Amino acid sequence: MAVSASIPDVSVSKSRLDRLRSTAEAAGASAVIVTPGSDLHYLLGVGGSSFERLTALVVPSDAGLGPAFVSPALEFAGLGHLPLADLGVEVRTWVDGEDPYALALAGLSLDGAVAISDMTPSLHAIRLRDKGARDQVLAGPILRELRMRKDPAELEQLRLAGAAIDRVHAQVGQWLQPGRTEAQVGAQIAEAIVGEGHAVVQFVIVASGPNAASPHHSVSDRVIERGDLVVVDIGGSMLSGYNSDSTRTYAAGLPPVAEVTDAYAALQQAQQSAVDAARPGVTCEAVDEAARGVLREAGLAEYFIHRTGHGIGLDVHEEPYIIAGNDLPLEAGMAFSIEPGVYVPGTWGARIEDIVAVTAEGALRLNTRPHELLVL
Ligand code: ZN
Ligand code: ZN
Ligand code: ZN
Repeated sequence: MAVSASIPDVSVSKSRLDRLRSTAEAAGASAVIVTPGSDLHYLLGVGGSSFERLTALVVPSDAGLGPAFVSPALEFAGLGHLPLADLGVEVRTWVDGEDPYALALAGLSLDGAVAISDMTPSLHAIRLRDKGARDQVLAGPILRELRMRKDPAELEQLRLAGAAIDRVHAQVGQWLQPGRTEAQVGAQIAEAIVGEGHAVVQFVIVASGPNAASPHHSVSDRVIERGDLVVVDIGGSMLSGYNSDSTRTYAAGLPPVAEVTDAYAALQQAQQSAVDAARPGVTCEAVDEAARGVLREAGLAEYFIHRTGHGIGLDVHEEPYIIAGNDLPLEAGMAFSIEPGVYVPGTWGARIEDIVAVTAEGALRLNTRPHELLVL
């Protein structure tokens, strides 16, 4: 378990823990159990992921019981800087041979379901069940109520992440040339993602020619050909834990044929139209439809094979999802991608992706590189 550099202020952590408790109570859960991952990062500033030894924050919904932090003693040695005492969190360490699951559930009244963080390994969830937490629900719906609306400090971290990935896109032209492989270009992009201020490279997609029709292609040994469209979708995590994610589509060496240029113009209009639609009170599905409708008009509906976007924060993909069927109204502070694409199987593809933050006035782009097809 690594410790992140950005521990939220004690007062911020305190109010997040209080809101978690009251939201859990309103949801009828008896407690929320959060293991290492983005939820724990959000609450306490602790990074890292779950291992086979249980580390967990237990937040009872009964205000009379305080939260507890269960940690293997060998891990807790590196967590001494956490202001757990100031937060009113009781520390319960354990050593190999002891039962951490009984320790986690000690003192809880288990009459309501226990909400368990979404990414908790079943290794821990099932053992908690065996120790008495029989009725379990996902904690995601409770935590999304907290994490979906970013506070100004979080929006600032997303803005810095967006600016860092924009600086990488600004350099892509130096590396992306016909005759080079996707993997060679991708390696230089990965280096620049760190060079421009990210702590971790999350993903590098360099999808050229027919590979561009596969939205989640990574990189391959395919040699980029003159005239290829190349989808470059890249992102990383800053030291703060907040993520970037931005796509631009480049033309290698030659402008594409008119049919592709026309489709790209519709894609650009679709992306703009979704950005224009996003404002407080508008539903997620309406933003999706704003992009999809433009592509439908252009006869391209069948080539847009994914949702329009996803929330972003401490996870690259989180709530809210900009997708048909999601009638959640947008609120100020929500941050998500707007990334329509056109994918013609086996032939070519294109995508344009910006992260936006919802403000009272509308959606503010956190990625500002030009949206036009850039001929390199
Ligand atoms: Zn994706
Ligand atoms: Zn992306
Ligand atoms: Zn994305």
